[in-house]
Amino acid sequence: MTVYLVGAGPGDPGLLTRAGAELLARCDVVVHDRLANAALLELAPPSARRIDVGKLPRHACPSQDEINDLLVTLGREGLEVVRLKGGDPMVFGRGGEEAASLRAAGVPHQVVPGVTSAIAAPAAAGIPVTLRGVSAAFTVVSGHEAPEGSGGVAWEALGRLGGTIVVLMATATIGRIAERLASGGLAPDTPVAAVTDGTLPEQVVWRGTLAEVADAGVRPPATFVIGAVAAVAVVGPAGGTDEDSA
Ligand code: SAH
Repeated sequence: MTVYLVGAGPGDPGLLTRAGAELLARCDVVVHDRLANAALLELAPPSARRIDVGKLPRHACPSQDEINDLLVTLGREGLEVVRLKGGDPMVFGRGGEEAASLRAAGVPHQVVPGVTSAIAAPAAAGIPVTLRGVSAAFTVVSGHEAPEGSGGVAWEALGRLGGTIVVLMATATIGRIAERLASGGLAPDTPVAAVTDGTLPEQVVWRGTLAEVADAGVRPPATFVIGAVAAVAVVGPAGGTDEDSA
């Protein structure tokens, strides 16, 4: 009867919420993207339909409108639908659009928050996004907004803001982002970390500076952390070096 927009967490299946696991275990349909962890789909009953909207038949990549329509149709069929989305559904996950479309269509729906990679990927690498005396704020930004003219993010102003900058979806644009932050006044030696496949066994952490990040060759999916906390490593053996936390 309800469409649940469920956060799948950043990758480690242990980071799915209990509410998410309970809904998955009793749903009729799971609508999912390319997921960091396919193990989550195994939580759904064997009889449940699994729809990968990363590759619908005859569609290389369904548009957001098609996904919205699919959720409305499934909801109207009276099915229990889990729309499983990486991280938290409301952080760069189109959860807002999907919820609005369900609301407009009068289809009952609920949001089940998830653990966002914006905080969890740094944490898994031992990087606290806030740290008393070091950073009292963090800003989460989409790297898709980096090119000139696309509007959205005032990177130069962000460079002057202070605190931690967390950038998602930026492996292709990080060079330009670093330039724009620097032209806003952020020092070239500002610490930067990049966490690829955070929380998964294959997690890789790169650490360097704003001046170096463009040439780091960071692979997706990665979360970039820019600011003093990026030089911190609070996980790992006591007295360990940055490399120990990687
Ligand atoms: N809703 C998601 C974000 C979707 S945007 C969330 O809350 O986490 C997708 C971006 O998330 C990727 O480009 C990458 O920047 C980040 N991301 C997703 N999984 C990640 C992981 N395991 N490690 C590091 N970054 C990840």
